[in-house]
Amino acid sequence: MLQTMLPAPKIDAFLPPRRILMGPGPSDVHPQVLAAQARPTVGHLDPLFIGMMDELKQLLQYAFQTKNDMTLAVSAPGSAGMETCFVNLLEPGDTVVVCRNGVFGERMRQNVERCGATAITVDNVWGEPVDPTAVEAALKANPQAKYLAFVHAETSTGALSDAKTLCALAQQYDCLSIVDAVTSLGGVELRVDDWGIDAIYSGSQKCLSCVPGLSPVSFSPKAVERIKARTRPVQSWFLDQSLVMSYWSGGAKRSYHHTAPVNALYALHESLRLLAGEGLEQSWQRHKQMHELLKQGLTNLGLEFVVAEPYRLPQLNSVYIPQGVDDAAVRKQLLAQYNLEIGAGLGELAGKTWRIGLMGYAARRENIALCIKALEDILA
Ligand SMILES: *Cc1c(COP(=O)(O)O)cnc(C)c1O
Repeated sequence: MLQTMLPAPKIDAFLPPRRILMGPGPSDVHPQVLAAQARPTVGHLDPLFIGMMDELKQLLQYAFQTKNDMTLAVSAPGSAGMETCFVNLLEPGDTVVVCRNGVFGERMRQNVERCGATAITVDNVWGEPVDPTAVEAALKANPQAKYLAFVHAETSTGALSDAKTLCALAQQYDCLSIVDAVTSLGGVELRVDDWGIDAIYSGSQKCLSCVPGLSPVSFSPKAVERIKARTRPVQSWFLDQSLVMSYWSGGAKRSYHHTAPVNALYALHESLRLLAGEGLEQSWQRHKQMHELLKQGLTNLGLEFVVAEPYRLPQLNSVYIPQGVDDAAVRKQLLAQYNLEIGAGLGELAGKTWRIGLMGYAARRENIALCIKALEDILA
């Protein structure tokens, strides 16, 4: 029998241009983080690598401001961190109050339902923060609720919700809190222990100046107890934290669970080291300062913000597209002529808004100057 072979395709190396990423993520990766990722791969059970993992945990605890022992990076993007929180905590029949004020709150609801749990939704207008009064009413009306889930920083709209108040409400009504901090971590004030957050997930590619593909998560001792008391195993083998922890917390006795994304973890280690070097509060401050600068430029161009001032995320600036302006054409031109990426509107706001990110390493003066100049030229 004659065997046939598909011919080897002749393809050049992929050489991406150096874009300036001012969208909703991924955001600009710090050059030191890119360099860290290119270092030699070692075995994921290599004693030196295990030492790095221990440091990584300390750095994550600092970024989250938590002493939680179950603090680690899920080997997958933010969406997997979201799923990790829901599949580990929820059991069929549980009731969860889920706040929706954008795309990501709705994804939380879908996660709840896929766990066989019941979602009680609290809806807010897109662009507004979650309303604590409405949340309290839902918690009061549903005493069987075990969890309160909400998005701290809604990347689809640019609205910041009051996580501290919402978590206090969760405690008052005997619920554990599940918080999406994908866009908030590193960009705005976030204090896991002080605010009493029970389960939290984030992403590497937003305000941490890191490459995409990792999701920092943390579980409070109460959440860990809940996971240990489950009556049935977590339906996802890969995301089951009781199995993953034997890798992350085993010390010298660490055992194989899955092959850790070794080089991506070098990148996260470096990005969190940079964050610790800058200081968390200084990073929050820098995002705020850069937002003020961008706001001035955008306002001068006549662009209007979607979110009211007190709830505006510094790291995600949603503005309305002016009447008669071609959304896609402008973004295409920004990319082609200025190597600059900004985000399109999402969900209800698709075609109506632009989302200009100032996340992590992207939150710098030169980027803002370029963005304002480019928009000015194109809109003129
Ligand atoms: C980006 C984002 C996610 C999803 O993260 P991925 O890394 O894209 O999977 C979830 N929630 C919020 C608020 C986000 O901004």
